Amino acid sequence: MIEVSERLKRLPPYLFKEIDRKKEELRAKGVDIIDLGVGDPDIPTPSHIVDAMSEAIRDVKNHRYPAYEGMKEFREAVARWYKRRFGVELDPETEVLALIGSKEGIAHLPLAFLNPGDMTLVPSPAYPVYGISTIFAGAEPVVMPLLKENDFRPTLSDIPQDILKKAKIMFLNYPNNPTSTCVDLDFFKEIVDFASKNRILVCHDAAYTEISFDGYSAPSFLQAEGAKEVGIEFHSLSKTYNMTGWRIGFAVGNSNAIDALGRVKSNIDSGLFQAIQIAAIAALDGDQSCVSEICSIYKERRDLMVNALKEIGFDLIIPKATFYLWIGTPKGLDSQEMTKRFLDVGVVVTPGIGFGKEGDGYVRMALTQGIDRLKEAVERIERIAL
Ligand SMILES: *Cc1c(COP(=O)(O)O)cnc(C)c1O
Repeated sequence: MIEVSERLKRLPPYLFKEIDRKKEELRAKGVDIIDLGVGDPDIPTPSHIVDAMSEAIRDVKNHRYPAYEGMKEFREAVARWYKRRFGVELDPETEVLALIGSKEGIAHLPLAFLNPGDMTLVPSPAYPVYGISTIFAGAEPVVMPLLKENDFRPTLSDIPQDILKKAKIMFLNYPNNPTSTCVDLDFFKEIVDFASKNRILVCHDAAYTEISFDGYSAPSFLQAEGAKEVGIEFHSLSKTYNMTGWRIGFAVGNSNAIDALGRVKSNIDSGLFQAIQIAAIAALDGDQSCVSEICSIYKERRDLMVNALKEIGFDLIIPKATFYLWIGTPKGLDSQEMTKRFLDVGVVVTPGIGFGKEGDGYVRMALTQGIDRLKEAVERIERIAL
């Protein structure tokens, strides 16, 4: 067998091996496992979206190759949604690109801009794709630590000058997975200034702007003045409309970056099944009360879990957005040990170190199970020996 490429060899080690082994062992023993590990909504896609797909799939026009950049109607629906939701004007011709899920766009973007020796600035802890896509493009991810003492925001003044000279892209994600931190528009304004001064392309991953509580409304990076000159934003229907399996997202913002990403994609994939785009139009243009219903379900779960975990003695911040709890491990336990203790009582959480070294000392809990299962999880967590 021929050897795998250097880029595959450079992938960070798979940290969940031990956890997976233990999960399998418990399952084989017939233990009922409550999985709060994966960020995959348990609630189905709203029915008006499913109906739109159902109809579109019978239309033979949709059986052919779609347009690479996405249907004009889809790009227009995205522009309308951005205008309504954020007050941001987008040109559907040049500033919107359909993606096969936002992960696909995030993974391909570095191929459009990075040469060997270039650097990207990636937060840690973070969604692993930012660093991995950098490695796949032959470039070097440089960590911006997200620490509790800095409200899980990068400290821009800590980034050394020599790194700044080589850094071409900065990845950011607020509301944040895994820490559930939110930022305001002032933070994005600072980022715009920093990026234009240092000639860096900002890639903001906005997967969770719509999953928010307590009257909080998360800003778009593109609302910051000048943002379109320095960056793009990745969006996804996955979390907003419970459509993780459908694979649809989009990139918006700087037209040069959108064009470059589109050129990479047109040489790799051939666009998105039109029936899915038509369903997404129904989602974006339709009644948004389904989104508030989804948020109120997560809010009830959040309140139950946060109160219970605090009572048990865990350290955590009450999230204003996302469906994750970022839970500090007591007594300096490392995240893998803490994860094992959760597993011992049949509850799966994700060790923070899986999101980067700076995530150690935390576990992430996804609120992607119904309230009864969460109550059962609480009873089990109360039995964990701390
Ligand atoms: C879920 C998620 C995504 C990707 O969603 P897609 O399903 O690929 O659109 C991107 N970023 C973060 C931080 C996520 O949690």
